[in-house]
Amino acid sequence: MADDLFDFEADVLVVGTGGAGFSAAVAAALEGASVVLFERNDHIGGTTGASAGTLWIPNNHLLREQGKEDPRDDALAYMCRLAYPQYFYRDHPTMGLPAEAFELIATFYDRGSEAIERMAGAGILDLVSDTRLPDPDHRYQVFGGPWIAGFPDYAGEDMGNKLIVGRHLAPAPHGPWVLQQFEAAAERLGVELVLSHQATSVLRNDDGAVVGLQLRRGHQAVLARARKAVVFASGGYAHNPELVRRYLPGRIYGTCSTLGAQGDFVDIGIEVGAALGNMKNAWFKQVPIEAALRMPTPPSFWLPWGDAMVHVNRYGRRVVNEKMVYHDRAQAHFVYDPTRREYPNLLLFHVIDDTVMQSESMVGMRSPFPDPGQPEATFVISGDTWKELAANVDAQLAEWGPEIAGTRLDPSFAENLEATVERFNGFARTGKDLDFQRGDAVLDWSWTGPIREGSPNPTMAPFSEKGPYHCVVVGAAILDTNGGPIINPRAQVLDTAGEPIPGLYGAGNCIASPAGQAYWGPGATIGLGITYGYIAGVAAAAEPEKRFEG
Ligand SMILES: Cc1cc2nc3c(=O)[nH]c(=O)nc-3n(C[C@H](O)[C@H](O)[C@H](O)COP(=O)(O)OP(=O)(O)OC[C@H]3O[C@@H](n4cnc5c(N)ncnc54)[C@H](O)[C@@H]3O)c2cc1C
Repeated sequence: MADDLFDFEADVLVVGTGGAGFSAAVAAALEGASVVLFERNDHIGGTTGASAGTLWIPNNHLLREQGKEDPRDDALAYMCRLAYPQYFYRDHPTMGLPAEAFELIATFYDRGSEAIERMAGAGILDLVSDTRLPDPDHRYQVFGGPWIAGFPDYAGEDMGNKLIVGRHLAPAPHGPWVLQQFEAAAERLGVELVLSHQATSVLRNDDGAVVGLQLRRGHQAVLARARKAVVFASGGYAHNPELVRRYLPGRIYGTCSTLGAQGDFVDIGIEVGAALGNMKNAWFKQVPIEAALRMPTPPSFWLPWGDAMVHVNRYGRRVVNEKMVYHDRAQAHFVYDPTRREYPNLLLFHVIDDTVMQSESMVGMRSPFPDPGQPEATFVISGDTWKELAANVDAQLAEWGPEIAGTRLDPSFAENLEATVERFNGFARTGKDLDFQRGDAVLDWSWTGPIREGSPNPTMAPFSEKGPYHCVVVGAAILDTNGGPIINPRAQVLDTAGEPIPGLYGAGNCIASPAGQAYWGPGATIGLGITYGYIAGVAAAAEPEKRFEG
């Protein structure tokens, strides 16, 4: 029972009810700790609640049960290469990475499976892994059910990745989603769930150990006592425009994260002397600019659907494999041209022909395009000829003015676009994209459409010779950020001297992500959050009790 000073008291306090927070809470409870779980929203779930709720876990037990191997060295090489390409050197004790960065990735490999296996064993999580490659003749099969299985890694066969499917885990078919599984387990394990309470600072004793929280409930301040430790799992800062401007590269036009993603742990972390890391990275994606300028959560552009389709910049040039996963594709927006001293890809122009526009394929997976029968998308600009399309797009850009840093189409746009399309049509006919290798990776064709009979490369088709043609102007956006206080492999938050702040743990999008700049595969964000949430929960429960006075 809380004494007079405190409204709440427990061994472990957890902040945030997404995947990372629930994982920490149930892990601590499994270890026998009493737990209070706080949430600033009036509902549980955070961004996890809005997500597909799948996890990416290397060397997981479900893979192994199917006789598949995920050797440590290969998996670490894949993860390190993508997380820190600027340092990666495979034949080196830490693969060329700073030792701390390598250890965090290695710990994910070593303990991710432990986390989900233990939770499966305790009846908390019920997940499946489908290790079949998507069938080239049934390319939609990865979306054949209400769950997503057999979904390839995001860098697929690149980087010597030997295991393309199987690290991705999803709830069992027709079973409850991961968040519902966690919620039920938390209730069973006696975790006290407290909504509409926003942690605003941590309480420390005279030894500097974290021994509680101050929280805001409406207009009131309330105090909570942690006998052992506090775990932050409060999500990123995607809905805090000031922090987004301060830390992220380029210009960010939206997010699909919870409104609770305000970056509270950035300020709280700074206040207790935490070192910040990975602040320039996020889980990136794209959004249509027109929608982003009028709504806080514009529809996401995941993997552009369609075959007669290209992304070009304001010079009418392709700049990326359009079927590249959203996270990497979006980073094409951040390229700086030192010669012109500009961001030539600040906006990209997603161009399709009318066959793609009218196609009824990929229902449910066409975002941001509406499904057939839904109201038309307001962000589509059309023109009967390339010239007319360019004029209409440019007129729209002129209206947006400061929102897009005055970006206009270069006078060469229409002519270059025609040449780009002609070159692309040649690639589509031969099936080989000599510029960006579109269609070479399993991921490219496992999430595509429409598919035409006899196409040598189903991700590409020649544009029709006649308009109308259509364009959506897109910009960089984020699922959420993934920078914040730095943790060590025990999920302890580190101060600027690299020492753990006693009693303070972190996991999920609120901390400096072990993923660095990578998005390894579908479910990587929740997989990491659940793994480090579990590590934090177990370690927090094992902490000695601390006196409030110090
Ligand atoms: C449409 C969509 C699909 C996605 N699909 C996937 C997927 O399948 N797999 C995957 O890995 N990722 C996916 N993502 C990304 C993923 O949802 C997030 O990266 C992940 O869920 C973040 O988990 P988290 O626990 O760190 O944070 P969250 O789930 O955001 O939880 C943090 C919680 O903390 C609360 N909070 C914040 N500050 C405070 C405070 N001061 N006091 C109390 N509470 C606070 C927030 O309100 C929030 O509820 C998807 C995202 C979207 C939007």
